[in-house]
Parts: sequence; structure tokens; C-alpha cells
Amino acid sequence: FQLTLAIIKPHVVKNPIATQKIRELIIASNFKIVKFKRKLISLPEAEKFYDEHKRKFFYNRLITFMTSGPSDMMILTKENAVKDWRDLMGPTKVFKAQFEAPDSIRGKYGLSDTRNATHGSDSVDSARREIGILFPEFNID
Ligand code: ATP
Ligand code: MG
Repeated sequence: FQLTLAIIKPHVVKNPIATQKIRELIIASNFKIVKFKRKLISLPEAEKFYDEHKRKFFYNRLITFMTSGPSDMMILTKENAVKDWRDLMGPTKVFKAQFEAPDSIRGKYGLSDTRNATHGSDSVDSARREIGILFPEFNID
């Protein structure tokens, strides 16, 4: 079984019905929620988390957005958790999500390429790194 890190981003957390629907989808898709917290991501946490995007044009707006309000953070587990969660989310780009995967989470709740509703680790290694940043108290081994 794999672990992955899922984040429900701030604009969705402000909408309790959307947040509840995503949680129901997670459960219905046979993920177990190992850890959950609702928390305002701090600036240092966001910078560390998105370090690989430091030089991208969207970096500042990404960091500003991710620290603009509380997010729901979850450690999810199931077989193939990393890929299965990314499949549920749909494409990163909201235009693509709405066209190619209108029933995906990003297709339904994405507002822009930055406010694209959810985050999911892109590999087992990323999941480990990201869990270390947002759940430092969680012992992964
Ligand atoms: P995530 O890491 O959130 O699961 P991802 O791995 O599909 O998404 P990345 O390329 O890692 O996408 O980008 C990280 C985040 O940066 C995206 O989720 C999105 O919020 C933001 N982002 C990515 N590309 C763009 C873009 N072209 N314009 C604006 N924001 C973007
Ligand atoms: Mg990514």
C-alpha cells in the first residue's frame, strides 16, 4: 500500500458542500484517511513545499493563494494511492480538466490553473517529502 498527500485548497475549504463532496468521493474510492488536519499553511511551509516551482512565473501567486486561508490536508492510503488520487483530481490545468475530465475534482471545482481545487503528490518520493513538511509529527517508517 502507498501513502499520498492530498490537499483541498483554500477556495474549496471555504465551500463546505464542495469539501464534503470531495471527502465522500475519497471514501467511496476506497482510500483510507490516515491523518487529517485543517490548517493555515505558513509561508515557510509553502515555500518549502513548492520549492521546485521557485523560478516559475506562477510561483508568487501560488504561494499567496496557498497561504490565503486554511487548507484540508490528508494522508491517504490504498494500493496505487499516488496515481489513483491524481486520476480522481484530473488534469492540473483547469481548461483541460473541464474539457477532458468534467467529472474530475478539478473539472468540477477548479477555478483557475492556480486555484485548481486539490493537490496530490506526483510520486511515492514526493509524498514522503510533502508529508514530512506538512505532517512533521507523522512517523512514516
Ligand atoms: P499539484 O502539485 O498541485 O498536484 P500538479 O502536480 O498537477 O499539481 P504542478 O506542475 O506540480 O502541478 O504545479 C503545482 C501547482 O502550481 C498546481 O497545482 C497549480 O496550483 C499551480 N500551477 C501549475 N501550473 C500553473 C500555471 N500554468 N499557472 C498557474 N498556476 C499553476
Ligand atoms: Mg506537483
